[in-house]
Amino acid sequence: MENNAIRFACNGCGICCKGRLIPLTLNEARQWLQRGHEVAVILEAFDETTWASAPGQFTHSAQRAVKVTSGDAQIRVVAVLAGNALAQCQNLADDGRCGIYEERPLVCRIYPMEINPFIALRPAEKICPPEVWEAGEVLFTDRVVDPVLADQIERSRQADRDDAQAKIQVCEALGMNVAAWKNDALAVYLPDRTQLSEAISRYDGGSVAPARADWKVRADTPALRLQLGQAGVALDDQPSTRYIFHRL
Ligand code: SF4
Ligand code: SF4
Repeated sequence: MENNAIRFACNGCGICCKGRLIPLTLNEARQWLQRGHEVAVILEAFDETTWASAPGQFTHSAQRAVKVTSGDAQIRVVAVLAGNALAQCQNLADDGRCGIYEERPLVCRIYPMEINPFIALRPAEKICPPEVWEAGEVLFTDRVVDPVLADQIERSRQADRDDAQAKIQVCEALGMNVAAWKNDALAVYLPDRTQLSEAISRYDGGSVAPARADWKVRADTPALRLQLGQAGVALDDQPSTRYIFHRL
């Protein structure tokens, strides 16, 4: 077991606070917006018929998703709320430290571990400098060693499941109803901060309308378009400035 041990000692370099989107729970997104920072929304769709990975991975994804109607089909949609740190996180202080350390999101607490249990920890694939893997406490053997870290990871996963319906309803309330297809592309929205904050507040107050039935999928790959079209999925054919379509 010890032969497989992965050691890790964060050196506080702050590289993981730059050039990325920071996945947030709904409550973390609420706080992020209250601090005056921007939250992006990523919409991802899938269904059983095109699922290429193991069945266990489908269950994991389905638990984070909501079943919605798209044209004549039933698809599942995941909404990911993410702090915009594409340049750098707005909470990163001038001294390179986290300005909200005690309140930082779960995903920041668990890095370099992943929320997705199907992504293995491979140091070479992480953005941390190489030297941080050569010292420190054992982080991982065949499981997460630190019970506090294991608890934070589980809380992240549970929040994904608990927040799924609320996030989709907030998206619908703001007209964000076009998703990209899983493993093909990302549909990234950058909603107005105030409108998103108000929509989340309305959800908290129980006044967001229930799910509508007009979800669409943006797919540019001819084979995927054909496949989805034959399945009755409504495709978004109009060029849109409402979201950024990023092919994978
Ligand atoms: S919240 Fe803090 S730890 Fe997380 S990305 Fe921002 S600066 Fe880094
Ligand atoms: S990139 Fe890695 S070593 Fe650097 S602050 Fe983030 S977790 Fe720590």
